[in-house]
Amino acid sequence: MARDPAVLLAPGVWRIPLLGDWVNGFVFRDDDDQVTLLDMGLSSSGPKVITALAWIGSDVTDVTRLLLTHAHSDHAGGAAHVAQRTGLGIGVHTDDAGFVRSGTVPPFGSALGRLMARLPGSGFTAVPVAEELTDGRVLPVAGGLRVVHTPGHSPGHASYLHEESGVLVTGDAIFNVRRLRWPLRALCTDFTMTRQSAHRLGELDYTTAAFTHGPELRDRPRVDIRAFLARHPVG
Ligand SMILES: [Zn+2]
Repeated sequence: MARDPAVLLAPGVWRIPLLGDWVNGFVFRDDDDQVTLLDMGLSSSGPKVITALAWIGSDVTDVTRLLLTHAHSDHAGGAAHVAQRTGLGIGVHTDDAGFVRSGTVPPFGSALGRLMARLPGSGFTAVPVAEELTDGRVLPVAGGLRVVHTPGHSPGHASYLHEESGVLVTGDAIFNVRRLRWPLRALCTDFTMTRQSAHRLGELDYTTAAFTHGPELRDRPRVDIRAFLARHPVG
């Protein structure tokens, strides 16, 4: 069966599977039809984001904001295509903004990661930054989208909480690939900080946890995430 180009998470909130459930982007649509896109996948994903928009009944001209969780090529790779189609720049946490502008990935904290960073294709096409975000900022997106700085995977990695619908987008702070798990240590700037900052996600209120890698959890996700974090205490 052919997959739908978008998965409804809550009224006005969709996940866009960009490589099966392995890589996801997200759509938030306001009552007045304005659209915000969060993460645009790999370099090949841009057209899939545009297809998903059409499928949910929105137009490229409805898009008023582009956001990223962080400056890695499997999230920012499709951004150049979407930015070009919409004429918009990117909103990203201030600590990753320079990497988005230059199309480079933040430094990896391991020898393996540093090796991988030198391989061709590890970067992405540079994209203009329209707004630099900071922790706690509530963006005027579909009733309010809170920036939750969860650094470590990259310096400016951010999760996003849509309080109205109860949808949390963890970003790469926690993966849900077959089970809840950490991102690959080799691809983190600071793996210890990744694990420490993820504990912020245990304190938030949400009813759906959505992941940039893996399918969403709709059934008591906060309980599962808190249990995962409890198995991995800080320090
Ligand atoms: Zn990723």
